[in-house]
Amino acid sequence: MSSDRHRPQAAETDPPDRGFDPESRLRSRAAADLRRDLAPVDRVGPRARTAPDPGGDAPAWDGERLVLASNDYLGLAGDDRLAAAAAETAREVGTGAGASRLVVGDTPAHRALERDLAATKRTERALVFSSGYAANVGTIAALDPDAVFSDALNHASIVDGCRLSGADVEIYDHGDPEALRGAMGQRARDVDTTDESWLVVTDSVFSMDGDVAPLAALCDAADAFGAWTMVDEAHATGLHDGGGGIVQREGLSDRVDVQLGTLSKALGAQGGYVAGSDPLVEHLLNAARSFVFSTGLAPPAAAAAREALRIAREGDRRDRLWNVVSRTREGLEAMGYEVLGGTQILPVLVGDRADAVALADRLHEAGVVAPAIRPPTVPEGTSRIRLAPTAAHTPDDVDRCLAAFEAAGTESGLI
Ligand code: PMP
Repeated sequence: MSSDRHRPQAAETDPPDRGFDPESRLRSRAAADLRRDLAPVDRVGPRARTAPDPGGDAPAWDGERLVLASNDYLGLAGDDRLAAAAAETAREVGTGAGASRLVVGDTPAHRALERDLAATKRTERALVFSSGYAANVGTIAALDPDAVFSDALNHASIVDGCRLSGADVEIYDHGDPEALRGAMGQRARDVDTTDESWLVVTDSVFSMDGDVAPLAALCDAADAFGAWTMVDEAHATGLHDGGGGIVQREGLSDRVDVQLGTLSKALGAQGGYVAGSDPLVEHLLNAARSFVFSTGLAPPAAAAAREALRIAREGDRRDRLWNVVSRTREGLEAMGYEVLGGTQILPVLVGDRADAVALADRLHEAGVVAPAIRPPTVPEGTSRIRLAPTAAHTPDDVDRCLAAFEAAGTESGLI
């Protein structure tokens, strides 16, 4: 056979352009969803901040501005004790896991963290992933439910996990157990659900509204229909009873089938986790593709998270955080601001999107970094400043923040 057959033929016309146009891609639905979830401003790029001051002092923007925009709720990302734990593990075990946990990437640092997470979450076992995002997508897909009932404001990683699972996704009204019951009842009437598996999934704390899901009522609704429950504690882990989340605070450890969270917010490290029964973890070990086909969590991150969990259990950092939060909330309310939510996340309601952006700019000039959150991230007319104080903020920092809000709010006629 002549090898000429394999020679490229001279093109008679120019080939069609099958490349990617980033601009049109950015208008695609998935990209639009992503941008909506990310966007405190319309188009964002990476934003630097200086390293946290050693010893856990409040991280400062450009070394001089007060940052009230991080998720480092316990102020542990700059804590010497975490740094020491990470450094020791890096020297003993290495900076990287070197392989998937299922190959040769498993280390004592992973096992020790998983034991402590299970104890804190009051479950039989826990499993760590390389991020909370990976934990969500891997877990929901591995559970392979026929239907997922998902809160309308759930985090993007839950949304993506639902999509990846291929399940029918029923979105129920935010934080509304009656709407959940309605959606489950509707499906039970419409479809032959005899052999179906159902999953109810919710964040425990919602990051833009700072509100808490009514977990006990959601569990009641799930029980009534025999569904499993999964709770994402990304914004609660480490902050409540015994260093646990809202599930522990509400005494629901036995009722939530899958507890999930991140090691990268209050625990000041990096990674994600799932906590639940022994059979659940055994299943995920081999079925969660983001666990199986991804390098194990970096051992120093595991060691740092474990140290953070120990500190969170002790309670001092938590007490400091809640003191800073209540002083900040009370100060803002006394000035006439409306502060939403009921957690460490303080969304300061402004209303109009331009007013929110102007307020954020004024705060920035006054040395306070706090993002304006506006549509489409939140509904029209509910633009806000999202304040996230941390345990590393001092009483002086709170005073400085309040003074900036007073000056900026007065100048702009908001208060
Ligand atoms: N779930 C929620 C509710 C989150 O807010 C986040 C992070 N923004 C994640 C999951 C993902 O966690 P990680 O940053 O560890 O990937």
